[in-house]
Amino acid sequence: MGWDFSTDPEYQEQLDWVRDFVHDEIEPLDLAFPHHIVYDKSHPVHREVVKPLQAEVKRRGMWAWHLDRELGGTGEGQVKLALLNEILGRSSWAPMVFGAQAPDSGNAEILATYGTEEQKAKYLQPLLDGEIVSCFSMTEPQGGADPGVFQCAAVRDGDEYVINGEKWFSSNLRYAAFAIVMVVTDPDVPIYQGASMMLVPTDSPGVNIVRNVGIGGERLGEGSHAYVRYENVRVPADHVLGGEGQAFVIAQTRLGGGRIHHAMRSVGMCQRALDMLCERALSRTTQGSLLADKQMVQQYVADSWIQLHQFRLQVMHAAWVCEHVGGHKARLEIAGVKVATAKVLQEIVFRAMHLHGALGVSNEMPLIGMWTTAPVMGIADGPTEVHQVTIARQVLKSYKPAAGPWPSEHLPGRVAAAREKFASLLDEQAML
Ligand SMILES: Cc1cc2nc3c(=O)[nH]c(=O)nc-3n(C[C@H](O)[C@H](O)[C@H](O)COP(=O)(O)OP(=O)(O)OC[C@H]3O[C@@H](n4cnc5c(N)ncnc54)[C@H](O)[C@@H]3O)c2cc1C
Repeated sequence: MGWDFSTDPEYQEQLDWVRDFVHDEIEPLDLAFPHHIVYDKSHPVHREVVKPLQAEVKRRGMWAWHLDRELGGTGEGQVKLALLNEILGRSSWAPMVFGAQAPDSGNAEILATYGTEEQKAKYLQPLLDGEIVSCFSMTEPQGGADPGVFQCAAVRDGDEYVINGEKWFSSNLRYAAFAIVMVVTDPDVPIYQGASMMLVPTDSPGVNIVRNVGIGGERLGEGSHAYVRYENVRVPADHVLGGEGQAFVIAQTRLGGGRIHHAMRSVGMCQRALDMLCERALSRTTQGSLLADKQMVQQYVADSWIQLHQFRLQVMHAAWVCEHVGGHKARLEIAGVKVATAKVLQEIVFRAMHLHGALGVSNEMPLIGMWTTAPVMGIADGPTEVHQVTIARQVLKSYKPAAGPWPSEHLPGRVAAAREKFASLLDEQAML
């Protein structure tokens, strides 16, 4: 039997170390520096503080856990990664310190899987070494959830491709050394066969950021999600990743991993919110008794714990399917955790925030910042509805229509069949 919910003691020891390390060494970075500095490698904090912390993570064998061993990761699999990411999800800086930050983790995965030796040497290695950051540039201003409307295109010109078009919400482009840009390379076939992934050094002439868009409370002009115009950008012909026409196959590999990693980290964020909720319930007295003694507050605690526990098991199961069956066969499970992530975050963080009263919604607690993560999780890597469609399609695949006019569970037919099966016994009974 393989239903085992325990963590092996050796790994638990590592996790305990990670928990203390994140709390003591990394969370102070969250408190001292704005979030976008996480990706700004030119900031001195990277050289002076982050590099030595990364060295310690590497020394402990915890670096780039999501990647196979031969690619510089630990190769220890998704289940252990889920437990690790729960802790890293408590801090904005922790994924960077552990070499597991989005979008670099997903970009590294597709470079490792589809890249040529030259592409790996030039782009993957410095990414794995933590020397550079990267960008994934797919969404366009006219629509992200529908790739059918994508227009950004690359045209072959001798030994080069020339890229023209716009992309929207290309996270961290302003700090990235290169971007993986989805482009139309063959407009004469459906986009699912006619799009390619292009490796574009961001210092190429024509990579023009129109503006950097922020989210939540970031001031206009201060964000790091680029609205970018690629204007006659020339890249060598060998900069196509995985061959022409492979963009959608590659995107699925990339986005699947990214989605489940976000979910793993969100478990940690929800746990942090629940910790705050419980501490508050036990600390605040109103109308003569602790909040924790009020039944409605007890309901908050209970509902939050149940939701978090269900979500955590769902994420762990999806991680297990990815590890043991394969990420490409985990579409249903990954779509499931993707949809759950936004909902669970929204509800648990809201309760924690609400229970802190004015303090909860103030800028003196991290809760309102955490809460803005919920709608982001419902949009980034595809909106909730799109994943609900995937779930419904996958679930419906294992069903077929009823054979006749009545549902297969229609009682009159089933009762008649059961009566016939036990006819002799029923007759005897009737004679008594
Ligand atoms: C913080 C953040 C970071 C991001 N980073 C990146 C990045 O690095 N690179 C990148 O390429 N993109 C990135 N994105 C973009 C993201 O992938 C898109 O926002 C997402 O795919 C949705 O596209 P859209 O914003 O154009 O919304 P639309 O496609 O316009 O959808 C808007 C809404 O319409 C509804 N809708 C859409 N499709 C359907 C449907 N089929 N059925 C029912 N309802 C539907 C949903 O309610 C949806 O939320 C990021 C987004 C965010 C918020």
